[in-house]
Amino acid sequence: MSYSYLANGRETRAVLERHGLSLKHRLGQNFLVNDDVIGRILELAELGSDDVVYEIGPGIGTLTVAMLPLVHKVVAVEADKALPPVLAETCSRDGEKLALVQGDALRVSAEELVAAAGAEPNKLVSNLPYQVAATVILGALQHMPSVQLVVAMVQAEVADRIAARPGTKEYGAYTAKLSLFGRVTGRFEVGPHNFTPPPHVDSAVVRIERLAAPYADSMQVAEVIDAAFAQRRKTIRNSMSAKGYNKDVLDAAFAAAKIDPRTRAEKLAPEDFIRLSDALRAC
Ligand code: SAM
Repeated sequence: MSYSYLANGRETRAVLERHGLSLKHRLGQNFLVNDDVIGRILELAELGSDDVVYEIGPGIGTLTVAMLPLVHKVVAVEADKALPPVLAETCSRDGEKLALVQGDALRVSAEELVAAAGAEPNKLVSNLPYQVAATVILGALQHMPSVQLVVAMVQAEVADRIAARPGTKEYGAYTAKLSLFGRVTGRFEVGPHNFTPPPHVDSAVVRIERLAAPYADSMQVAEVIDAAFAQRRKTIRNSMSAKGYNKDVLDAAFAAAKIDPRTRAEKLAPEDFIRLSDALRAC
């Protein structure tokens, strides 16, 4: 069974040649050339006819053409100005289901996406450009509450940070903040040979489900996490006081939350930061 007619080296080269394009390293243009990987992404994304999918970096449409027949709409943001005419051609069969925004995904607002799609996206499914992958995943979970599921190809090292456990070297402010909004429910590895050109790093697809009952004050907890990790080698008390938290207030909050002020942030689980944030608000 074929998912994307573009997911092979021959078709990808033919499309690029037809449009006189060469791949742009600075935009992370490593295009997928293995249809099995597309199939596994679709399996994790569980797409259906009501889904409005947000795709960042459609490229020549390799993943897009596989998603369009299955969903209500794909709203895609592509930074490369040369690619909209290519996408108009490659996605023409389901062209009315594609809303394309040309621009930098880090600068496009949720309102612009909704206006383009005519509906709020409920899934983010992308083979992400690696320079912005970590930022856009957390950004979507923080600022786009309609997004319930993320299935994204990222650098394997970013996937490790996303799924890290407290106390490990991969665990940091990013992991703790992400786990306030979602939990990892799937992952598979993708080697460099599945792309053209092959990247210099290993990749992985991660599936993140939004928490059914997210913590109400997640943005405030995120601030506490940032302050606690600001100086990772220091105690949590010193790191947070250097970020402007009053030491007396901190000591009262550590006592109330039953957290040792001499501990380091990397030892604390997301639930500890939630307790600490609640205690700080009460002090
Ligand atoms: N989806 C295609 C695939 O699976 O083969 C292409 C993926 S390629 C890894 C990343 C794509 O993201 C490229 O098309 C690149 O031009 C685009 N891109 C890079 N930075 C971007 C940004 N900040 N916002 C939107 N698109 C971006």
